[in-house]
Amino acid sequence: MLEEECPKCHGTGKVREENGQVHTCFDCLQKGKIKVHSEKVPDSKIRI
Ligand SMILES: [Zn+2]
Repeated sequence: MLEEECPKCHGTGKVREENGQVHTCFDCLQKGKIKVHSEKVPDSKIRI
């Protein structure tokens, strides 16, 4: 079975808005299709 291609991002996981901004496709995020990259890793308060 082929997975239905996301109409928003077309499988890229990123959505480009009319103003040129690119953001992560929330639909795919919710479906768990794409993994959230840790570009900005929230600093843990716990330090060893
Ligand atoms: Zn998508």
